Amino acid sequence: MPLPQPDGDGDKESRGRVLVVAGSVGVPGGALLAGLGALRAGAGKLQIATVAGIAPHLGLALPEALVVGLPETPDGGIAASSAVMLADRASRCDTVLIGPGMVEEAATATLVADLLARLGPAEEGGPRFVLDAAALAGLARDPAPLHRHEGRLVVTPHAGEMAGLLGCARSEVDADPLGCARRAAARLKAVVALKGGCTRIVSPDGRAWAYRGGTVGLATSGSGDTLAGIVTGLLARGAGPEQAAIWGVYLHGEAGNRLSRRIGPLGFLARELLAEIPAAMAALA
Ligand code: AMP
Ligand code: MG
Repeated sequence: MPLPQPDGDGDKESRGRVLVVAGSVGVPGGALLAGLGALRAGAGKLQIATVAGIAPHLGLALPEALVVGLPETPDGGIAASSAVMLADRASRCDTVLIGPGMVEEAATATLVADLLARLGPAEEGGPRFVLDAAALAGLARDPAPLHRHEGRLVVTPHAGEMAGLLGCARSEVDADPLGCARRAAARLKAVVALKGGCTRIVSPDGRAWAYRGGTVGLATSGSGDTLAGIVTGLLARGAGPEQAAIWGVYLHGEAGNRLSRRIGPLGFLARELLAEIPAAMAALA
């Protein structure tokens, strides 16, 4: 399943419009890492929607993006009411990522359910989605909002988030990661990338892939946010959900391997992974 190659005459629209809904007053960097991940994976256009208080700062830190400010909760998270103003914007994008750096699970759960309900299903050409981190929290209670978007979804939990998704103990996920990833993929009708030292990618019909090629230095703050952005960028470029998850996990792992060789096995930063992605991608061609 090679990645889609860009048309030599294509403009930025042809490599996909991405909307990243992410960040909070406390964790603004999650939005930055995810947005850059999408661009480094080759997506053409980036919009970030984040809490109003950090939007101008994010815009300066990431001049390549259009940044939209959203209503805030008292704790500095994105308010659930934001779904109304996001729906139209999301409908004009190819891929929507929700979750990195979002801190309030209840507000995020309501926002995700409301936004998914407001967007057209697959047959109407609605966007594809990547859900990560806090955006996964509400899906344990009710995965139904995802189902009308079947075939257009990737979720990227780590083991703790997978336990939350299935309502089971973390030890159960550690004992049978593949079984848990299969259960989650079937319940959510989404491609699941269950992250860890070995990352399993499982499709809703139970087909599974494993990636063991990364390095322990990847287990660092912000690393998952960059991965979610990379997967989002590949989807926006036209890769299918399985393909985007598999190649995204591989490229993220390769970026870590390159830094591990050059800098050392521990202590490279999540943001340093980003600049490694283009060369890792070029090596695939
Ligand atoms: P997150 O916990 O969301 O920040 O994601 C952590 C990232 O680091 C995921 O992509 C994991 O697959 C990766 N990771 C965590 N532990 C290891 C490990 N021991 N070896 C290689 N990659 C890892
Ligand atoms: Mg994470």
